[in-house]
Amino acid sequence: MIEEKGILFILSGPSGVGKGTVRKSLFDKDTDLKYSISMTTRPPREGEVDGVDYFFKTKEEFEDMIENNKMIEYAHYVGNYYGTPKDYVQKQLDNGNDVFLEIEVQGALQVKENFPEGVFVFLIPPSLEELKDRIISRGTETEEKVRNRLAAAKEEIEMMDYYDYVVVNDQIDTAVQTVQSIVRSEHCKRERV
Ligand code: 5GP
Repeated sequence: MIEEKGILFILSGPSGVGKGTVRKSLFDKDTDLKYSISMTTRPPREGEVDGVDYFFKTKEEFEDMIENNKMIEYAHYVGNYYGTPKDYVQKQLDNGNDVFLEIEVQGALQVKENFPEGVFVFLIPPSLEELKDRIISRGTETEEKVRNRLAAAKEEIEMMDYYDYVVVNDQIDTAVQTVQSIVRSEHCKRERV
């Protein structure tokens, strides 16, 4: 079996759809995927740990990374920067490991330009009403932020056609199993003896 470079998987979709939950549950299931920890200027939420959930940075530190061409992609999302540091991803792919990104849509489209061979998965909510309920029930956002996130979500959903796969996040377990089968299928596509 010859498989040289790792595969880059990109999980994207609107804020509140459950990307983080799907990703965590996927990584709990004994996977060989490597998760690329994002960098952000957003302040940590309660319980979030620097270097685990995100690398929390100042605006100056983040802009320095951008200027020095150290990001694969980044986005300014609802008032903060979010982005993927280049070094880790490149190193893991070169070592033959699969890398998993969980990012919003603007960033995913930038990744598509530089890694067209990446596998792009779009997670959608069963409905916009359901998405609103999920953002509100998270309880971490002000009313204005909920409105902003919902407006961003509507724009993001329009970008669905750029993705290789669309997964409806109705039941979390089913969504995770679907993502796992996408990972398996992509390996089968590339396997050669
Ligand atoms: P949150 O503030 O809820 O943690 O994340 C807000 C949005 O930013 C989510 O849609 C999340 O997937 C996205 N995000 C997290 N990390 C990155 C990243 O490295 N790059 C981009 N473009 N988006 C990210």
